[in-house]
Amino acid sequence: MNKSIWELETIINGRDSLKENIQCDILIVGAGISGIILGYLLSLENKDVVIIEANTIASGTTKNTTAKISAQHSLIYHNLLCKIGKEKAKLFYEGNNLALNTFEEIINKEKIDCDFERRDSFVYSLRNNKKIDKEFKAYKKLNIKGEIVNEVGLPFKVYKALVMPDQACFNPLKFIKSISKNLKIYEHTKMIKIRDKTIITDNNYEIKANKIVIATHFPIIDDYGYYFLKQHQDKSYLLALKNANPVKGMYIDENIKNGFTMRDYKDYLLFGGFSHKTGSKSDEFFFKKLEKEAHKYFKDCEIVCKFSAQDCMSLDHMPYAGIYSKKSTDVFVLTGFNKWGMTGSMLGSLIVKDLIDGKSNKYSKLLSPSRVNLLASTCNFTKNALNSVYGLFVKRIIMKRKDVIELNKNDSLIIKYKKKYIGIYKDENEEVYMVDVRCPHLGCILSFNKEERTYECPCHGSKFDYKGNLISSPSIYNAKKYKL
Ligand SMILES: Cc1cc2nc3c(=O)[nH]c(=O)nc-3n(C[C@H](O)[C@H](O)[C@H](O)COP(=O)(O)OP(=O)(O)OC[C@H]3O[C@@H](n4cnc5c(N)ncnc54)[C@H](O)[C@@H]3O)c2cc1C
Repeated sequence: MNKSIWELETIINGRDSLKENIQCDILIVGAGISGIILGYLLSLENKDVVIIEANTIASGTTKNTTAKISAQHSLIYHNLLCKIGKEKAKLFYEGNNLALNTFEEIINKEKIDCDFERRDSFVYSLRNNKKIDKEFKAYKKLNIKGEIVNEVGLPFKVYKALVMPDQACFNPLKFIKSISKNLKIYEHTKMIKIRDKTIITDNNYEIKANKIVIATHFPIIDDYGYYFLKQHQDKSYLLALKNANPVKGMYIDENIKNGFTMRDYKDYLLFGGFSHKTGSKSDEFFFKKLEKEAHKYFKDCEIVCKFSAQDCMSLDHMPYAGIYSKKSTDVFVLTGFNKWGMTGSMLGSLIVKDLIDGKSNKYSKLLSPSRVNLLASTCNFTKNALNSVYGLFVKRIIMKRKDVIELNKNDSLIIKYKKKYIGIYKDENEEVYMVDVRCPHLGCILSFNKEERTYECPCHGSKFDYKGNLISSPSIYNAKKYKL
């Protein structure tokens, strides 16, 4: 049930882990959609590329995406127009359009069967507000094709919608399976350190490379770049429904926090929504709410799977793609996709490929990780800075030792004992696991997610299983484990 529809439909063959020290020209760390697309583009130029992946190919956020390939990005162009100006806002649209067309070109050229389909993309509003009109005005100023409609074919009434025609969707794992087949990838090989141009892996091997690309979703080098101040992670939820009325296009509510996102895939309706900062709220609550709404609008539907994921939200709502930091000109990064990582990772990869080749790229300045868009960024920067220390001081759900006796199966308590914060988890066989819930990344106190049985960082979104094993970055270490 907790697998995504893409995982149920697609199996990607496993790869060996690294078993020796190696050298290569370009090392990509992370085999999500961004790392794999970049690897593929570089392989077309016969570059000597190696990819390492802490877990398995596409096992991070990519496997739990809705996989709309769209330049629409909900409501963004009015905001960009006001905050970064017409020229840059137009460039952002063009770049995303290029990314969309590049997906289609690759799929046609390689004859990839990944259920790619062109579809119209709708952002709708349920309330009488001016947001859709303002976005439409921005479309006109930026010469973006689109129109306002009142009827969109959803099982509830919308006030207004803005349609961007001819966008697309696909099965991301089928796409990745195909373009990764000839790439040199080592799975279960985690980068834990970088020293000059050498990476050290968790199995103690070294990889020397001339260029290194960090495509780990949330960047894992904290000594420079300071991505923990430039972005945070937001979570959303998805269900795959059977026996739900089909929908023609791809839909998203302008109210990202409380609204829905929808698209069909084969006989399934992907029905999702809600958005909140990772680690700040309970998954159980949101899944229950989403299931209730699914049954309300699609009466006979059957829930085939439910899954959730988190994505990196940048300061100005555009990705970071380029040189990791001015201090490290041979290290590159792909991140900050704001839940639009299909087009984002394609555009970002095109940029990073050109930078690696020493070529100029029309979009590189726009998405440069060291850009400063003051108007668009200041408020989010302050929030992220406060957020970075939030979990250091907050004292949540800290229990007394006597409560541990009453711990339910498949539940966790967090206690403070001799200045340590300890998460205690009891599994279905009454086996008890204890882990240090100070995040190994920057020390925030993790919260427990009952639905997934994971500990999550409310500051930067690192995730660990109940035994303390790392699931997602920016931490590179497991949580410390204690014996009972
Ligand atoms: C609910 C939801 C729905 C979405 N829907 C859409 C959509 O419809 N359209 C769209 O465009 N975008 C969508 N997105 C966004 C998109 O899915 C993501 O932006 C994208 O998948 C991120 O890809 P990635 O390669 O950056 O990260 P990931 O897929 O997370 O890949 C990063 C990889 O790096 C590996 N890694 C981490 N640390 C290390 C290390 N130390 N060493 C080695 N490997 C490491 C991880 O194991 C992981 O496999 C959605 C996001 C969410 C949360």
